[in-house]
Amino acid sequence: MFSRKNLRPARNTRKKTKLKDGLWLKCESCGEILYRRELDQSCWICPKCNFHFRIGHRKYIELLLDEGGLEEVDKGLVPVDPLRFPKYKEKYRSSRKKTGMEEGIVSGRAVIQGIEVIFAATDFAFMGGSMGSVVGERVARAARLALAEHKPFVMLTASGGGARMQEGIFSLMQMPKTSAEVALLKQAHIPYINILTHPTMAGVMASFASLGDVIIAEPGALLGFTGPRVIEQTIGEKLPPGFQRSEFLLEHGFVDIVCSRRDLRETVARILSLLAEPHKEPSTQT
Ligand SMILES: [Zn+2]
Repeated sequence: MFSRKNLRPARNTRKKTKLKDGLWLKCESCGEILYRRELDQSCWICPKCNFHFRIGHRKYIELLLDEGGLEEVDKGLVPVDPLRFPKYKEKYRSSRKKTGMEEGIVSGRAVIQGIEVIFAATDFAFMGGSMGSVVGERVARAARLALAEHKPFVMLTASGGGARMQEGIFSLMQMPKTSAEVALLKQAHIPYINILTHPTMAGVMASFASLGDVIIAEPGALLGFTGPRVIEQTIGEKLPPGFQRSEFLLEHGFVDIVCSRRDLRETVARILSLLAEPHKEPSTQT
């Protein structure tokens, strides 16, 4: 006969095994247990509370871009560890292995609902999506490509890491560099769209991620320069609820649109078609 004591671990083990198998996930926001496959089919948005789970660049490519995905450019750039920062090389190598990415960014040519664009996305899974010299260089090159090919530039960020501390001043230098490159798009009247996802912070937020003609944010994303905890400690005051979240920033005019991931593709395409130059009629042959 089983005692209560004996049954308890068995029940727990079964639950743990299921979660370990990856069939089920717990919503980080409302605690609801969700079926992974259903979540994947619904853009990784919790059906109960609308929480947007963090997803990687591959999923964003699938959700945003037309068939054919991303025609990647500027591959093969790797950082050189200029400061010989302790354990940077190891961290970089393990991130490559873990993510299958060369660096914390992908960039290239793409099509969004029939509109040709230059698209780039940073990925939080690769060292927090932080901007080292390679990430900065690829953003700058993507902007230059948009300028050269006269295509809109759509930049998605998931960069909680901000500027990559392991590259010190070389990372910080990417801030003015990327800012200068995207400013050239403005001069040339080429649309530049930012899509900010959770989290986009610090040196990334304070440079190319906040300079778009239109800034779109996913719901509930943490977006800012310094994290709320550090600000509270520094100024010795409690911050208002929702501080640095997308909705707060929309209310305060920093973000233009808070857009569900489900509508992201439609929204970007609509903005691009609104910002596009008037369509020129082909000249009639005589
Ligand atoms: Zn939820």
